[in-house]
Amino acid sequence: MTGRLLLTFDDRHVDSWLAARPLFDEVEAEVTFFVMEADLLDDDERAGLQVLLADGHTVGSHGARHRNADETIRDQGADEYVAIEIDPSIHALQEIGASVRSFAYPNTRRDDASDAVLLSRFEYLRGGSPRTADRAITARTIVPADAIPRVLPARGSDTGRGGESHPADAETMSFLLRETAERDGVLVVLAHDIAARSAFNHIDPDRLAVILREARGLGLSMHGFDRLPMPEGSR
Ligand SMILES: [Zn+2]
Repeated sequence: MTGRLLLTFDDRHVDSWLAARPLFDEVEAEVTFFVMEADLLDDDERAGLQVLLADGHTVGSHGARHRNADETIRDQGADEYVAIEIDPSIHALQEIGASVRSFAYPNTRRDDASDAVLLSRFEYLRGGSPRTADRAITARTIVPADAIPRVLPARGSDTGRGGESHPADAETMSFLLRETAERDGVLVVLAHDIAARSAFNHIDPDRLAVILREARGLGLSMHGFDRLPMPEGSR
């Protein structure tokens, strides 16, 4: 084992995720899709997610309506938050055959109270991390394989949103991948839509291919959240 890369894609971009299957297959990567509005998916979207599940990918929850967890729990209470945001999502995803063992925070908004609520429902939660070129700071996104925290930081990798490009960070990402291999660590990376152009946050497929190929070349294992070890004391 020389490190692991857990690629994750958020929201509701099933068509473009399906279009990326050849990319994932080429490098034998299994990834995780954190799906929002699971109870609103149409038949095509549900069938698409089932194809991705059959490929070995993981499907987790991203909330029923993409509500900020910290805010909603503070304003409406934990019970109401779970009833409107978590239970409908888990139920709808389980209906298509997903295990729903993990959750990604919408807008990466979280706090200790939301962690406490959600860790009783999920094995792993995905948070965020600053998208900075500062190597000392960004390297903190890499966690040790023998002590994987149940709330995992994640590094953003989208290339743009609408007509706007995010700052290029190919060098920082490459550094993170090499560092993950060297430390035998675990790195979680997040993106959204997979497209050259999209009104939403998106990663260009060419950029994704570069990341996948570099990770493969470094010998990083690429798998979904469902292949993480069952944490002690969960459930
Ligand atoms: Zn989202």
